[in-house]
Amino acid sequence: MEKIVIIRYAEIHLKGKNRGYFERVFSVNLERALRGLRHELRRTSGRYLVEAFDEEELDEICGRVSRVFGVHSYSVGYKVASEMEAIFQAVKSVAPAEGTFKVETHRADKKFPLTSMQLNAQIGGKLLAEFGGLKVDVHTPAAYVYLDVRENGTTLVFGAFLKGSGGMPVGTSGKGMLLISGGIDSPVAGYYMAKRGMTVECLHFHSYPYTNEQAKEKVVELSRILSRYSGVGVLRTVSVTRIQEAIHEKCAADLMITLLRRFMYRIAERIAKQNGCQCLITGESLGQVASQTIEGISSSNAVVTLPVLRPLIGFDKEEIIARSQAMGAYETSVLPFEDCCTVFLPEFPAIKPKPSYILEEEAKLDVEGLINEALATLEKITL
Ligand code: ATP
Ligand code: MG
Repeated sequence: MEKIVIIRYAEIHLKGKNRGYFERVFSVNLERALRGLRHELRRTSGRYLVEAFDEEELDEICGRVSRVFGVHSYSVGYKVASEMEAIFQAVKSVAPAEGTFKVETHRADKKFPLTSMQLNAQIGGKLLAEFGGLKVDVHTPAAYVYLDVRENGTTLVFGAFLKGSGGMPVGTSGKGMLLISGGIDSPVAGYYMAKRGMTVECLHFHSYPYTNEQAKEKVVELSRILSRYSGVGVLRTVSVTRIQEAIHEKCAADLMITLLRRFMYRIAERIAKQNGCQCLITGESLGQVASQTIEGISSSNAVVTLPVLRPLIGFDKEEIIARSQAMGAYETSVLPFEDCCTVFLPEFPAIKPKPSYILEEEAKLDVEGLINEALATLEKITL
């Protein structure tokens, strides 16, 4: 009896004539997620089956499948010949030994000699005869046995629908550049864009030697965690040390963050355009900190033309933390290493800086020269 994982996809079916394209991207993503594990992936009318795997790797397979965007639900079960005895053997393996249950059949193969109702009744009857502690309850059963009689002479037997990550296959919604810090928010922002099908590349600004090697390692690790969902492991780093020194030296202290953000956005936009990214992505959430007021956001927005997507704009910190934990990033995000934004941090940052004030202070800097100097420090890490 062959154990299988059945994968059902989410919104893909909504896409009408794009369906073929979506399915191709989805299967490439599934293959990538399963890389390194023995398996065969097969498509059968609206589902994918993972077969021929090592049973001790089943948990790993399920974990990886559950992280692929576009997976609506998945089930672990058996694929058997569409014959009563074979079906019942599989049913015995997925059914509980006691409590209430219900058999639900989906019959695609109209040539199968029994109707869905008849198959439900016969399998249910055999189970009752086999296990004394079982009882049928068609309204609120404690357990289900699902039978899916396929057109190719095989039947899929499983006991539960496990929830997938939902969303759309990564690669079907363009490409964005995520500004990733070492904090909690930005990896979560990347997660949500990937969930909507966007390919996400990461960009991190550091202030070496003010920030250390461990701070960088932390961002590498966060990008790697994100890549389990986004499928792409590209992280670029740029030094903003000279920029921060110049701001510190020449400009009003309360604008350190505001001016630095404007540099970050400008640099990010250039690198994004060079690499085919169609937008910037940040982890900003309205009002969360001094620089995330609408005035602060407007001031950084004003220096770029690419759209800046902020998927967390309406999230509370608590909601962001819950997602960070669920995606497995939280423990890394809270490690106590310095971020460049904590270097030269003013005691009282400007909360609602006026545009004229920002421009006046920024005019004291050689903006273009500093950007080029920073771009010269660009490094690319493939994860
Ligand atoms: P996070 O938890 O992502 O660090 P935060 O709440 O600390 O966010 P800020 O420090 O104000 O917020 O940063 C806002 C956003 O700016 C971040 O979510 C990130 O997208 C971007 N950002 C901040 N610092 C950096 C950095 N060093 N490198 C790249 N992007 C950064
Ligand atoms: Mg931060």
